[in-house]
Amino acid sequence: MNKQDIFKIIDDSCEVSKKTAFKIFDHPEWDGNEVYASDLLTSILTDMNFEVERGIADLPTAFRATKKFGEGGPNIGFIGEYDALRDFKHACGHHMQTPAIISAVDALIPYITENNINCTLTVYGTPAEETFGGKIIMMEKGCFKELDIALASHATQDTASISGPSYGLFTFKVEVIGKSSHAASYPHIGRSALDTLILAFNGIEFMREHTKDNVRMHYSIDEGTGPTNAVHPKAKATICVRSRESSALPDLEKRLRNILKGACLMCETKIKIKKNPVYLCQMPNEVLRQLSYDNFELLDIEKINREVIPAGGSTDFGNVSTVVPSILVKLPFCTAPTHSKEWIKAGKTDAAVKCMQDSAKTLAGIAFDLLSNPSLVDEAKKSFIEQSKYN
Ligand SMILES: [Zn+2]
Ligand SMILES: [Zn+2]
Repeated sequence: MNKQDIFKIIDDSCEVSKKTAFKIFDHPEWDGNEVYASDLLTSILTDMNFEVERGIADLPTAFRATKKFGEGGPNIGFIGEYDALRDFKHACGHHMQTPAIISAVDALIPYITENNINCTLTVYGTPAEETFGGKIIMMEKGCFKELDIALASHATQDTASISGPSYGLFTFKVEVIGKSSHAASYPHIGRSALDTLILAFNGIEFMREHTKDNVRMHYSIDEGTGPTNAVHPKAKATICVRSRESSALPDLEKRLRNILKGACLMCETKIKIKKNPVYLCQMPNEVLRQLSYDNFELLDIEKINREVIPAGGSTDFGNVSTVVPSILVKLPFCTAPTHSKEWIKAGKTDAAVKCMQDSAKTLAGIAFDLLSNPSLVDEAKKSFIEQSKYN
């Protein structure tokens, strides 16, 4: 069996992965509540005789599915997501990820058994990438560290590429408590939670002028607009701060806390801050990067970008990349920007099927290369250790 035979199996199983992905698309779930997707995917992996552990890391929709072949050998991990965006469906294309992974591992199994290769295939199902970073919680509970390699894929615009260094990110969920009052009759009694947020946001705007170019800050008001003629006693907001240097995040956090403290002092309000897990900058692995390009070349893809382009966003796969040699391959899907209505429209089209097939072939191709030449696993590990020095 060669790589083309593996690709042929992926082509032949196209209808199965299409059906699975489209079902997930039709049941968008998010924020750790991806029950439908998790049940569907784990039942398929159970049918494939994987040993499936559901609800790992105390996350009901997280799972690990493993299949051992012989004794020892590399443990190749495939990391899948299936969460949608809150009220914005599958605008990030996560419905395609795990069906593509299942298609890839399914195609690798005959090759592994035919050649008596000692190895383990591990499929991780990871919830809430868009919100609280399921992988970070899973990492804290010991997941991923048993892997020798971690592979993942994501849809992208029109050019196959690998995800370059991503932004590190921390998110504050804040709740401001003020004092209600009539805005005209008794304004002097009221203490406005909304004013506190407005002052804090202005503080962030002034801070923006004194940060490095590689810093991004965004905020939204989640709750706080009450009647215009009342002083608002409660307001909630989400504030995200990103940097291309994970090491810069603690100082940015200190400054943001000072801004919030100052805004509360000015308004005589109180604040509760909940900090979500920190997304670390992603470290692409040089050896896995080259293997990705080699496999892109085998696909029917018009454009391949071989430059390491910094990723525009943040991902909790970044945290995984700090503990295990990892690569996130990106396959063409829809020319519009991610998180757009166009991505939702394209979610069940031929472009989605093609993206999924290309993702499956790239991941299976990289795994095939690693399993047929185990010294590449050692090289990827060496590259990981080298890269870790600079992160
Ligand atoms: Zn997204
Ligand atoms: Zn995404």
